[in-house]
Amino acid sequence: MSIAENVREIRRQMAEAAEAAGRNANEIALCAATKMNDAERVKEAVAAGVDCCGENRVQELTAKLPQGAYEGKPLHFIGHLQTNKVKYLVGTVDLIQSVDRTELLEAIEKEAVKKGVTQDILLEVNIGAEESKSGFTPAQAMETAANMARYPHVRLRGLMAIPPISEHPGANRRFFADMRALSVDIAAKKYDNVTMEHLSMGMSGDFADAIAEGSTMIRVGTAIFGARDYSKK
Ligand SMILES: *Cc1c(COP(=O)(O)O)cnc(C)c1O
Repeated sequence: MSIAENVREIRRQMAEAAEAAGRNANEIALCAATKMNDAERVKEAVAAGVDCCGENRVQELTAKLPQGAYEGKPLHFIGHLQTNKVKYLVGTVDLIQSVDRTELLEAIEKEAVKKGVTQDILLEVNIGAEESKSGFTPAQAMETAANMARYPHVRLRGLMAIPPISEHPGANRRFFADMRALSVDIAAKKYDNVTMEHLSMGMSGDFADAIAEGSTMIRVGTAIFGARDYSKK
């Protein structure tokens, strides 16, 4: 199937999941996870009507950006970010979804001051408490939200999570539910510089469950572009 057909099918499944949950599909963004797909394929996804593009590696992003890959749609960063690469993203991407540690938050603030911009971010939460994954614990995310006034050039706009690889269908629903509860708890505090408008969770294999549990943004790669060929890199 073509990229456009895949996007149509995902929209259909999103609408179905939203309806089953008594939600409006219009409040859920479809973010294309574009890693390992070249600018032409990303443009196809943009033309097919995804709501945003999420890139994983700074090097890929800076290569595809001048090729106009993301033109017309918001660009997000969703991968692990080294502090020395922050300068390539601040003021360039609309949203850094994968802020997974305080050191990175500090580096983003510093770069935003330097550039005279305000950078929107999400906090990445390690909701499955996995050793192999980075991210804030829920308690640390709450604490970081409480401290956002320390970072006046950064706006916290929500949370992002990559739950454990699902052992069987539905296994991740409780993690999605925990994320939703955390985002509601943080929003209720009405901290300075903090809104919880985005709850970024759900990928190709589990976005229907994520939508059922309150996701406002799904990040989909494989279901749009097909399987990634890791043997090439
Ligand atoms: C690759 C990636 C996705 C998309 O994964 P698929 O299973 O291919 O849909 C989502 N989020 C992040 C952070 C990713 O790196």
